Amino acid sequence: MAWTERQRLMLQEMGIRLWAAPEVPEAAAAQEVVEVAATAPPPAVAAVPPDDRAAAIATLPWPALREAVAACTACGLCQSRRQTVFGVGNPSAHWMIVGEAPGEQEDLKGEPFVGAAGHLLDNMLRALNLTREEASPERQVYIANTLKCRPPRNRNPEPEEMAACEPFLMRQIELIRPRLILAMGRFAVHSLLRSSEPIGKLRGRVHRYQGVPLVVTYHPAYLLRNLAEKSRAWEDLCLAAQIADGAG
Ligand code: SF4
Repeated sequence: MAWTERQRLMLQEMGIRLWAAPEVPEAAAAQEVVEVAATAPPPAVAAVPPDDRAAAIATLPWPALREAVAACTACGLCQSRRQTVFGVGNPSAHWMIVGEAPGEQEDLKGEPFVGAAGHLLDNMLRALNLTREEASPERQVYIANTLKCRPPRNRNPEPEEMAACEPFLMRQIELIRPRLILAMGRFAVHSLLRSSEPIGKLRGRVHRYQGVPLVVTYHPAYLLRNLAEKSRAWEDLCLAAQIADGAG
């Protein structure tokens, strides 16, 4: 991809380290990247104007997007995370699952939906013949969170943190172009639908995000505490399966 000087500078400021000059031999370029990473101070939080930053992220191909997330310092969560949690699954998946923010286990493992909530999600997916493990795009889902870094002590995300992280999820959705989005939990739902209505009022029908059908359901962590809602979540998954099949 050919980058303009302005894009190149902006992406460098965001901490994306893909722009060694092409004529530099590979080994020397790698050395240069290591040295820059080791010596350059982290860019100031939100140093790039938000609109310019979002526009730059909206041009990134998948590998550069992953790099951009790993290097991101656009909100204060970069200071307490162990690592970013980009997402997992098939980048051509028909189903995309969007959760909320990484918890302690996710922060440790670098993968969304691990631990008990992840186990429940895997079982729910398995019941629909879906998986996060390697499989065809029909069967292997892609799972991403709205927020890529763990809020300290699992506190609720702040609106400015959600806003700073949103361009990454938007770009993931744009690149994956799933047939269906399953939004799990109120922060994912509120972010994607720009709605503050409770999940109970938004579930049971099909919404749209950038033209992609979107079904709302409860977060598996909530289901673990509210077992009675599991049957409703299963109804939501069946609705989602119906939509995904119909979109085929
Ligand atoms: Fe960047 Fe998102 Fe992490 Fe904030 S939460 S530092 S915006 S990747």
